[in-house]
Amino acid sequence: MKKSKLLALMLAMILLLSACAQPAQKPAEEPAPTETKEEAKVDEKEPEKEEAKPEDNYTSLDDFKLFDENNQLLRTGRDDIGENGVVSSGKYEASKIGKGIIEKGGNAIDAAVATAFALALTEANATGIGGGGFMTIHSAETGENIFINFREKAPAAATPDMWQTVTNEEGKEIVIGNQKILGGKSVGVPGFVKGLLYALEKYGTMSREEVLQPVIDLAEKGITVTPTLAADMSGEYDNLMKYSESGDIFLKDVDGMKLPYEVGEIFVNKDFAKTLRIIAEKGDAGFYEGPVAKEIVDVVNKYGGLFTEEDLKNYEVEVMEPVHFTYRGYDIYSSPSPSSGGTIVGEILNIVENFDLPSMAQDDPERLHIFADAFSLAYADRGEYMGDVKFVDVPINGLLNKDYAKKLADKIQTDVAITEPMPDDPWMFEHEDTTHFSVVDIEGNMVALTSTVNYYFGSKVGVPGYGFVMNNEMDDFVAKHDHPNSIAGGKTPLSSMSPTIILKDGKPVAALGSPGGTTIISTVAQVISNIIDHNMGMQEAVDAPRIKGFKDGKITFENRFPEETINALAEKGHTMNPSDDWDRSFGSVNAVLFTEDGKLEGAGDPRRDGKALGF
Ligand code: GLU
Repeated sequence: MKKSKLLALMLAMILLLSACAQPAQKPAEEPAPTETKEEAKVDEKEPEKEEAKPEDNYTSLDDFKLFDENNQLLRTGRDDIGENGVVSSGKYEASKIGKGIIEKGGNAIDAAVATAFALALTEANATGIGGGGFMTIHSAETGENIFINFREKAPAAATPDMWQTVTNEEGKEIVIGNQKILGGKSVGVPGFVKGLLYALEKYGTMSREEVLQPVIDLAEKGITVTPTLAADMSGEYDNLMKYSESGDIFLKDVDGMKLPYEVGEIFVNKDFAKTLRIIAEKGDAGFYEGPVAKEIVDVVNKYGGLFTEEDLKNYEVEVMEPVHFTYRGYDIYSSPSPSSGGTIVGEILNIVENFDLPSMAQDDPERLHIFADAFSLAYADRGEYMGDVKFVDVPINGLLNKDYAKKLADKIQTDVAITEPMPDDPWMFEHEDTTHFSVVDIEGNMVALTSTVNYYFGSKVGVPGYGFVMNNEMDDFVAKHDHPNSIAGGKTPLSSMSPTIILKDGKPVAALGSPGGTTIISTVAQVISNIIDHNMGMQEAVDAPRIKGFKDGKITFENRFPEETINALAEKGHTMNPSDDWDRSFGSVNAVLFTEDGKLEGAGDPRRDGKALGF
């Protein structure tokens, strides 16, 4: 497949638009990093790049107001309409870089790759080159739907015994201490750089230098620390101090003391710029081999990891068919195993399809009751059956079977909550801190991309001299032996990430997805229902209050539902657990919808820093 052919693009229309002039803020000075000979060689090329006028590429938060004088996030102004295309991501600067790439003649994949690397800088609490992710693509030209899996894999030496465990009174194996989430034994082999460079090479039109240069410029000039980023930097202060290599990156130096950045300050990451220059120069070999790879292995193993240089060198991206299901006549394509996401979103929507949701209001207690019980049933199956299909058999077709969903729907009673959900038997029906962004153009090309380092700043293991942290994706395995999601060398831990595209009669409808761990699934299902069942616009569907909860009949809800709705649910036996009005733990859906008047409506999630930019 020729890359120039795959995504028919919107160049002509887009070129009419000019890039906005960027008022530059003066970043804090940082000492020059120590360099090995090889990196110094790459850096010697700097003067040439300087001539490319970094200020042309530089973007900042100066021309978008995200938070008020009390450092409270503003919950409006996140949407934008595009006539030709929209980039909607978790950060204004990243959306702007993605949009800028299209304005320079790039296609949707070029823009997605630049946006992904820009998020690795601006939302390093949630994603990064030390992590991995998934990408679902729809090509307008060929009609193909493609899934690129660049999620982390366990290092070859990993076994279910790598974490020390104790057996508790209930016979459950419990991991001792924090090994699962902090330090070297929590780190999976990262796929981010290989995945995105693969996508660029195969489906993009621009060079690595072209897509990475704006991010390099931004890393050198610095980004504005938002309330969301500041909260994660100070919230993880103790861990960033303990794993001092990451503290050196994400804490500021004040008279020799490491302190968290304050809201509004500028965070510069010159080491990250240096790493991107190495990647621009050498491609994925610049990351998976040589000095960067060696430093990754050394620091991961310093903190107890099991990495070898071979693990990095052997990492392979997988190109797969997305999972496909229908919902009230719409075709939905999302993440297949090793994600549970697409499959369980499908199972939930198949269950709720048995009820007349379109006749109910969004805050009707009956509707929320149906969703809560559907979550209970589908998440119970997730926990029982799902793992990496390359290592275990998973009843994907059974889980997505409409008759199976009907069997589960029949368990939902009008008046009583399901409080003890048991996994059912899909085999009988078997016939054979993350970020999400969406890039869409008017031709109908769609990219939905979710990427992660798992927890805020991942394992907290920072790679010295290179400006990034390693993921803690190993935490997504279960500690047990003999479970579909037990650890094995080279296996991918189960994910919930669900980058999703929707089509109707072959025509593009929307691209969406979310961070939020297991909540991703319930979030994506609710937003799809908001669009299809309630005919909401994209921003309205993203803004609408959400529920979550899939155990013990407990529903956690954003505190914007009417009181009578909450009381009615409690009467059915649900344990109602209020949360903030706008709660970032309910995910962050950055999405784009094709509107009936032929435009594109981008939505950025106000629960975090999301911002859509159209053109
Ligand atoms: N590691 C999680 C997953 O792959 C995502 C974590 C998050 O969304 O914060 O499902």
